[in-house]
Amino acid sequence: MTHAIPIQREDRTGRLGLALHLAAGGLPVLPLRVGKGPLGNCPDCAHNVCGGRPNMKSPGPCLCPRPCHAWAAATTDPHVLAAPAWATAWRHAGVVGYHPGGAGVTVVDLDDGDAVDWARATLPPTRTVTTNRGEHWIYSGTMRSVNHVRDGVDIKSTMSYARWLGPGVGAIAVLPPVVLMLVDREESTRGRAGVDSFSLASGRWDRSVATGCRHTERYVLTGLNRGLARIKDHPNKGAGTAAYGVARFLAGQHTQCPGPCGLEAMGEQIIAEAVAVNVPEPYARRAVTNGMGAVLGATT
Ligand SMILES: [Zn+2]
Ligand SMILES: [Zn+2]
Ligand SMILES: [Zn+2]
Repeated sequence: MTHAIPIQREDRTGRLGLALHLAAGGLPVLPLRVGKGPLGNCPDCAHNVCGGRPNMKSPGPCLCPRPCHAWAAATTDPHVLAAPAWATAWRHAGVVGYHPGGAGVTVVDLDDGDAVDWARATLPPTRTVTTNRGEHWIYSGTMRSVNHVRDGVDIKSTMSYARWLGPGVGAIAVLPPVVLMLVDREESTRGRAGVDSFSLASGRWDRSVATGCRHTERYVLTGLNRGLARIKDHPNKGAGTAAYGVARFLAGQHTQCPGPCGLEAMGEQIIAEAVAVNVPEPYARRAVTNGMGAVLGATT
């Protein structure tokens, strides 16, 4: 008789089962309540008294085994997902959610028909998932999450969560500049005023563009080539982060130089290498701008 089946088993094949399946495919998942939001924090984490998790915007020391702190709890670890500390949450969960940024994607959440019409007229086609009243358009690549970038449109990527409503249809396209521009108007302006003169430079670094560099050509090229190799070793998701790290490292080599050191040319080479391993170009460019900016003092 079916009513004799224990709840735990039902959960295994229900939302937890789905969550484990998605996690095995690389999607960091979390339980969401019926009303779409994340479940509340446990008493230890209430009002963030624990300081929050290490991956949050202001990183804290919280290692709570329960799915506290919304998107920050999302994980692909099957041991965490199936642990007793998460069992209650799965029982109360209405849907499985995921952290788009953690999966290397951005969800353009279109709330209603008007928003969908706008997207069809404005955005490049990509994977779409039907929602209650609208659609999710999913692009590969991550960006800052911002709600209500225009009527009925939310951007869900880093530090955010979305409902899993099925795999959707269509091929996933690379995150296009038109979507980045929806949230980054003031950021990209600021970037341009800082170190983002990369778009003006081209080609490869050579000694002739580094007239104010105190290092030997060999020193510079060794660092550059090591950095490029490192990006090549991190295809897809990891390469954007690697590009940031490499840009930051290389800029750091030249803080004592009078300059110019040809950093723009190096930046272009880092971007090209990241794009070659499928990092969306705007994302690679921003990673390099921010990486160099972290050393050179730009404010992005
Ligand atoms: Zn907690
Ligand atoms: Zn906590
Ligand atoms: Zn230099």
